[in-house]
Amino acid sequence: MLRFDVLTLFPDMVAPVLAHSMLKRGQEKGLLTVKGHNLRDFTADRHKVVDDMPYGGGAGMVMKAEPILLAVAAIRHEAQASGEDIRMMFPTPHGRPFTQDHARQLADERRRIVILCGHYEGVDERVRMALAPEEVSLGDYVLTGGELPALVLIDAAARLVPGVLGDPVSALEESFVDALLEYPQYTRPAEIGGIGVPDVLLSGHHEAIRLWRRKQALRSTYVRRPDLLKGRIFTKEDQQLLDELMSEGLLTAPTSTPGGGLSP
Ligand code: SAM
Repeated sequence: MLRFDVLTLFPDMVAPVLAHSMLKRGQEKGLLTVKGHNLRDFTADRHKVVDDMPYGGGAGMVMKAEPILLAVAAIRHEAQASGEDIRMMFPTPHGRPFTQDHARQLADERRRIVILCGHYEGVDERVRMALAPEEVSLGDYVLTGGELPALVLIDAAARLVPGVLGDPVSALEESFVDALLEYPQYTRPAEIGGIGVPDVLLSGHHEAIRLWRRKQALRSTYVRRPDLLKGRIFTKEDQQLLDELMSEGLLTAPTSTPGGGLSP
């Protein structure tokens, strides 16, 4: 069972996302639990103050350390009472980029994963000093809070837990598996506005379909995310498919523009 504890000032932001689709099913099947903890419940004052002005001045408010440290201590205590350990995570733009490998590692985690959601200008630095959380970033941009990143971590990990997805093969045949982007997908109707579906997908020839998909995955990755192929040693089959793409003139110079590069 994958277990998350989310420390947040806005538990109502987190709960609705967990009430739908695969995440809901994962919880119903007992494969996943997510518990939201309102940091205001760990304040000692009458007004339940969780933030304060930054020392040194400046815009915005900073989340106070004490409620966070108390909340983590309470979760750690509860975990230890049942012989468990915790893994502390903090989504922040300062963290290392969150990747599919990271998601896979989380999916195998047996400890309770505690995610601290920052908000406002961020969190008192002493929280990082005291808890030394694993810091992960969703990308080089700034969000209003850590709630969406926490949900991203939970979603990315939970869908890799066997039984959460409807079809377990889905997680084996998708982008970043084998460090490639996924091949293009099509569904009915067979023609839209004069654009059809590649003949091979209608052929029923499984090996030909497999090779076509592999080739398209290599092409897409080469064009859109050449960084994923850096240092890669290609199998004989992949090299052959790349050679074919080259000779068909379908591999142009890599482009870093999303959606740029080759036409379908
Ligand atoms: N003042 C901070 C800075 O400049 O680095 C940004 C604080 S942000 C408005 C509030 C919180 O949102 C952060 O503490 C973090 O938990 C979360 N957050 C924002 N952007 C994020 C990102 N790219 N990845 C992960 N978490 C992020």
